Amino acid sequence: MDLAYTPEEEEFRARLRAWLTRTLPLLPPKPSPDDWPARRAYDLGWQRRLYDAGYAHVHWDASPTVRLIFLEETERAGAPYVGANFVGLLHAGPTIAAEGTPAQRERWLEPILKGEEVWCQGFSEPDAGSDLASLRTRARRDGDVYRVTGSKIWTSHAEVADWCELLVRTDPDAPRHQGITWLAMPMDAPGVTVRPLRTLAGSAEFAEVFLDDVPVPVANRVGAENDGWRVTMVTLSFERGTAFAGEVVACRRVLAELAREAHGNGRWDDPALRRRLGRLEAEFRALWRLVQWNVGEATENGVPGAGGSVFKLRYSHARQQLYDATADVLGDAALDLDRPWVLERLSSLSYTIAAGTSQIQRTIVAQRVLGLPKGR
Ligand SMILES: Cc1cc2nc3c(=O)[nH]c(=O)nc-3n(C[C@H](O)[C@H](O)[C@H](O)COP(=O)(O)OP(=O)(O)OC[C@H]3O[C@@H](n4cnc5c(N)ncnc54)[C@H](O)[C@@H]3O)c2cc1C
Repeated sequence: MDLAYTPEEEEFRARLRAWLTRTLPLLPPKPSPDDWPARRAYDLGWQRRLYDAGYAHVHWDASPTVRLIFLEETERAGAPYVGANFVGLLHAGPTIAAEGTPAQRERWLEPILKGEEVWCQGFSEPDAGSDLASLRTRARRDGDVYRVTGSKIWTSHAEVADWCELLVRTDPDAPRHQGITWLAMPMDAPGVTVRPLRTLAGSAEFAEVFLDDVPVPVANRVGAENDGWRVTMVTLSFERGTAFAGEVVACRRVLAELAREAHGNGRWDDPALRRRLGRLEAEFRALWRLVQWNVGEATENGVPGAGGSVFKLRYSHARQQLYDATADVLGDAALDLDRPWVLERLSSLSYTIAAGTSQIQRTIVAQRVLGLPKGR
């Protein structure tokens, strides 16, 4: 895989950089982290600008190098993060592109790219997180609809989502991996109740979702009935393999800022801290190489492979270590929620849990990447 940048790609970089320089000053101020409707409007507004300028499709069908340039330049310029568009743009959309029918691709992909619709992910249940195949939310076929009853938990952005990539059990008698189906559920369907959950950092970023006889058209099923586990693996490989790519660039920027702050406040004189930041620099450089690998693989094969778990495992730990280091550099100021990095430090705890815990990733790496035998 050749990841060198060609002159044409460097031209793309220059065009994008110029566009970002012109466009970023026109953006409205960033909304408060607690104001989800405002955050939705802000994130969709940014996506619409990308669409109008011809950059919205980059995550999906550009060459790996163009995708990497896009991530580097948007982060370098301080452009907004995908935010509420995370699920739609980075794993529901790519799943529909890979597994959906032409009609489904036509219905759902363009509104995601245009910043018109927000998606959330209804996979986890109270007793089915790491052991996702034990999910119990039931869907019963009733003519042209499935009637869905059950509950989901930890559903990020559920409050402001239009659609949910939903896993349901369609055959309770089948072996547990074989009775599952992947549906696109409209969040405004009758019988959907969203109850926000407050995080340690104070924001209601995710929710419980209760489903009471919710009608979901059979036409919204992605993949065959009872073949949802396979479709889910496609979704998870995008979520773990490529969805956090942009955040690696952001972490490298934070690390550079942290070193500057340490120089400024005298903490740089501590050799142990310098060693720690040096190790993190090496780790994030290695992670960027893994991003290049995964983005290349996703472009070549349509879907990233199990190597995405290697990235997810290392990235989520490196992120925690980075934000722990911010506390050492900030000292007492690390208790002040209004200081930069403090909220990110609190939320970095969740990264080794979300999108599959580190223990689960280790098992996947052991079995599917290293080919070690399955334990009992
Ligand atoms: C910030 C955040 C956002 C999230 N957003 C979403 C979302 O939008 N949609 C969604 O569907 N879910 C979401 N989740 C849920 C997330 O995917 C689950 O929390 C995760 O899969 C773990 O499941 P659990 O919480 O049920 O923990 P459990 O599965 O109960 O695990 C508890 C502990 O036991 C360990 N464990 C369990 N089984 C094994 C095993 N076989 N081997 C070794 N160790 C094991 C786990 O690693 C963990 O440490 C989110 C979570 C977080 C933190």
